[in-house]
Amino acid sequence: MQKILEEVLEENRHLAKKGRVASYIPALAKANPHHIGICIAEINGNMYKAGDADAKFTIQSISKVIALMLALMDNGEKVFEKVGREGTEDPFNTLYKLDLPHTEKPVNPMINAGAIATTAQIKGDKFGRILELIRRITGNLSIDYSREVYISEKETGEKNKAIAHLLKARGIIEGDPDEVLDHYFKQCSIEVTACDLAKIALFMANGCQGLPSYGEIDRKTLYRNLLAIMTIGGMYNVSGQYAAEVGVPSKSGVGGGIMASVPGRMGIGVFSPPLDENGHSIAGYGIMKSLSHRLDLSIF
Ligand code: GLU
Repeated sequence: MQKILEEVLEENRHLAKKGRVASYIPALAKANPHHIGICIAEINGNMYKAGDADAKFTIQSISKVIALMLALMDNGEKVFEKVGREGTEDPFNTLYKLDLPHTEKPVNPMINAGAIATTAQIKGDKFGRILELIRRITGNLSIDYSREVYISEKETGEKNKAIAHLLKARGIIEGDPDEVLDHYFKQCSIEVTACDLAKIALFMANGCQGLPSYGEIDRKTLYRNLLAIMTIGGMYNVSGQYAAEVGVPSKSGVGGGIMASVPGRMGIGVFSPPLDENGHSIAGYGIMKSLSHRLDLSIF
């Protein structure tokens, strides 16, 4: 396994040159484009890593999966009264459909509009609970958020602000949209490593076992929703293509991370900051394709 990881990393390293580090959040532009890492956490407890698997980066959209976990635990499947669970060919930051008269709710919890509507449904200290759950699942109590990325995103996130206010105008979120956004920007700024992502992915691959309580949802329903929604929307508007090419429920983030859960087998975290035109780590996507092929990971 160790040898496979190292080979796959080297095979895909060149792809990073074809991508671009995210810059629409100014602090993300400082990421080192040469960083590249893989971590695999197997269900039997073995862990393997290659490259910069311990380098920190911001979790960004991968936090949407944790937010969905908590929203489901707090509200059960009533969450889907405010956000759908269908695929879309629109990009992650799409806005216009929210203003169409027949649109009832954002299409899924993985696009920004759906994620903001999901975080809004978490009770109590939304960000604090997301951070706490990530620390619990990874066993890494030192995980925290980057103040710099948070402030950078808060200062420049006009499109997300427009989305949150439109959600409020449409009655999809209750309370103060700016307060919900503040939690959303902080959750996106949580710093993790590829190995932290592998552990979160393993938790899901293992049926979400091990939490003291699941609130308003049962464990299997939680697991099925999370993995199904990652499959249909975790890679945004190329989720279908990714399902065919990789076939593993995954979620990417503009920080360069991809988190992938292989049911009953392993959790995978990959990291390389340069992105393709759809906002996915370009080398990360390549690594996932190679790993799926070499380890026969596709669930299809
Ligand atoms: N914080 C980012 C945003 O809201 C997340 C997007 C992503 O990772 O795809 O734009």
